[in-house]
Amino acid sequence: MSDSSSGRPLPEITAVSQPFWEAAASGKLVMQRCDHCRTITWPPRPSCVECGSPEIRWTAFSGRGNVYSFTVIRQAVGGLDAKAFEPEIPYTVLWVDLEDGPRFLSNMVDCPLDAIEIGMPVEIVFREASHGIWLPKFRPSER
Ligand SMILES: [Zn+2]
Repeated sequence: MSDSSSGRPLPEITAVSQPFWEAAASGKLVMQRCDHCRTITWPPRPSCVECGSPEIRWTAFSGRGNVYSFTVIRQAVGGLDAKAFEPEIPYTVLWVDLEDGPRFLSNMVDCPLDAIEIGMPVEIVFREASHGIWLPKFRPSER
């Protein structure tokens, strides 16, 4: 599925990932934590990535973290999906180390490109794409 106005691809929402997207639409970050070994499984899967247990529970996370790494996209390279992001150029793709979760791939919002630094504190925000889908993004945080 894609956003009919921008042509950008949208996440495929499955029975397994649906709880994540429902929480995102209400501004909350949830991920699966294993009842058996406590490992966090991300992205969503039907069983624990560490021990294989199907007993994994959706758990709320703070959405706070620090920038691990980032890059600034200044040119659309690739097929139609990449071209659909051209109006956003320049934009940032970053890895965030969540304070209570795994490393998370996303984009920075509400921040000038030259203000982004490795290690800077950030917090998750959700922005509506379309079709009721809210995408996780990060913005600078005062901590
Ligand atoms: Zn496990």
